[in-house]
Amino acid sequence: MYIDAALLRDRFRASFLAHAIGDAIGKRVETMAPDAIRAATGGRGVIGFGPVLHGSLPSVARLRPEQWTDDTQLALATARALVRGNGFDLRRIAAEHVVEYMRERRGWGRSTERGIAELAAQDRQPGQPVRDPAAHGMGNGVAMKVLPLALMTAMPPGKVSAQTFDAHLRHIVGHSEQLQQFAQLTHRDACARIGAHILLLCLHEVLRMSARRDALPQRGLGQASIMTGAVLPGSYTTCDAHGMLLSSVFRSIVSGGMVATQAALIRTSCDVRESVPFVIATAIQYMDRPPSEGILAAVNAGGDTDSNAAMVGSLLGARHGTHALPPEWVERIEARDEIIALADGLFDLMLRTGV
Ligand SMILES: [Mg+2]
Repeated sequence: MYIDAALLRDRFRASFLAHAIGDAIGKRVETMAPDAIRAATGGRGVIGFGPVLHGSLPSVARLRPEQWTDDTQLALATARALVRGNGFDLRRIAAEHVVEYMRERRGWGRSTERGIAELAAQDRQPGQPVRDPAAHGMGNGVAMKVLPLALMTAMPPGKVSAQTFDAHLRHIVGHSEQLQQFAQLTHRDACARIGAHILLLCLHEVLRMSARRDALPQRGLGQASIMTGAVLPGSYTTCDAHGMLLSSVFRSIVSGGMVATQAALIRTSCDVRESVPFVIATAIQYMDRPPSEGILAAVNAGGDTDSNAAMVGSLLGARHGTHALPPEWVERIEARDEIIALADGLFDLMLRTGV
């Protein structure tokens, strides 16, 4: 098996672009239930960019169709910190978050807003956990912006053998401390980090299986679940409900089953114990369909539609590459050139620092 450099670079771009696209489309119906989405769209559901159809989040309702929200705002801030800092530097990541906090808060979650407020006020230093007891930290606010860390630590191009696979596994286990520090900038609960870690591993798996000239990935996320079990032994016990849901999803995947009723089964709120399993199940269901279909399925399932569609988009973009994304969506998405430049910057960083 051989990971192709040109294909992998393209997958990085597509993953970040599809993340932003899912966010921008999903924000139209954030917090709405599926039947309310159908009612607001003449029964068709959301089929692309357009005006925001809810009034529940003023900082989102005023955005233009091509604009994304906090999920992409903070993923880009994280990516800038990694690229400019030539790797993981918690203080730089925190500083980029504070810059965004001062600039504009597009639908920020409570834990993120309170956590960064403490940093902006210098009430605590990066590396110290969030103080504010109201910042529960059970949301998907870490998972929604983990993409740059996943790209930076993906398996580099070249021949894949048992040795290189094991070396990469050790490499990313070494990064789990960094992920914990990253999560604790804003989220107190371990669930937020665990959900982000699982999504990161799934992204790695999809990238590794998809940037190959020799084979198409089959059930790549099923293998990610096995890796997850290897990397995070015992972590589930800190978060039983999360673990049970993920286990049932992964059992179904590993046995080759489909998760046809995932929206009803898992639910779609911003609680990371719902959001990440829902995202993974949806990505699996649409793994070999055009990414636009998976993104729209996540949007029309309701709930935390922007974050869920962003994460589904990142997985399906990584799977299929830029050619599979609707050109009119790529053309239109806010800050397209910077997204591509940062995806390339993360690719180069992965080449320099990866194993
Ligand atoms: Mg958002």
